[in-house]
Amino acid sequence: MEIVSAGDIEKYSYCPLSWWLSKNHKTVAKKGVESHKKIETELKEIRKKEKILRLYEKYILFISIASSGIALLGISFMYGGMERIWNIFFVFLAFLWLYNSIFFLYKESKASEIIKPKYEKGILISSSGAIIVIAFFIILSLPPNIKISKFAEILALLWVVSANLLFYHSINISEKLIEKKIKYAPINGTIEYIGAFEEGEEITSSKYGIRGKPDYIIKRNNEYIPVEEKSSNLNHPKFSHVMQITAYCMLIEDKYGSPPPYGVLKYRNRQFKIPYEDRWKNIVIKIRKNMIKDMERGEAHRNHNNKNKCLHCARREYCPEKLL
Ligand code: SF4
Repeated sequence: MEIVSAGDIEKYSYCPLSWWLSKNHKTVAKKGVESHKKIETELKEIRKKEKILRLYEKYILFISIASSGIALLGISFMYGGMERIWNIFFVFLAFLWLYNSIFFLYKESKASEIIKPKYEKGILISSSGAIIVIAFFIILSLPPNIKISKFAEILALLWVVSANLLFYHSINISEKLIEKKIKYAPINGTIEYIGAFEEGEEITSSKYGIRGKPDYIIKRNNEYIPVEEKSSNLNHPKFSHVMQITAYCMLIEDKYGSPPPYGVLKYRNRQFKIPYEDRWKNIVIKIRKNMIKDMERGEAHRNHNNKNKCLHCARREYCPEKLL
């Protein structure tokens, strides 16, 4: 199956001859290249910081649990020879925590992918709590040791301080990240793919016979949304750009196995959500077929009488069929 690029579909939608001429006359819009480089750098930075934040979250959780455990350990070494009533109390508490963990485990197995991480956190916290309570129970049965107790309390204090420092540092990063991210993606979305400039493998759909690199793909609530950035100011989306973003939606449908609800076209002054609909998809399929026919014939021609198109065409300088 002949594979055509989404970029060529965009050119062909503008004018078949423009696409044909672009094969031999490459035009590079300097402004576009620079803005795409900037986008790529900013998106890479966002992805890097998000990774660091996730790591910090894990550290903070671990340090907080561990310092609580050590603090309890310290207290328990102050006292020894626990009374029977406390024995029963701690066994009961440990069972309660374990029951809690099992409950979260059950809920996690039934939960959707979005909720799963929340239950996983619950399992981690409650199972750690159970371990701490059991350890507390065992240590309280041992004879008291003031030296170990003091050491454990100081250690716990240091860990609590470091967890707090890390927490405030992560808040600081989050605030800066939100300011940058809001420009590109919803706060609860993640940047799944960057194809803006150099990074990002080309996506190929053998089902539709299309290939291409959207500027970036956002993942939100298990949906993958392609975003195409344009360096011009426009108050309504161009037909050729709609065809391009629809072609990206088709690539996503084939790659991830589910169709995106829409693609986003971002101009410098405005942005548009283009619904992924059959009416657009069918036109892309038709355009692709026409492109293949033209390739087989070895020629393509102007298919419009729109002088405005020729006026703003990047290939008008050497076009034999231009209207002006
Ligand atoms: S100048 Fe006009 S006819 Fe020629 S390629 Fe451009 S849009 Fe098509």
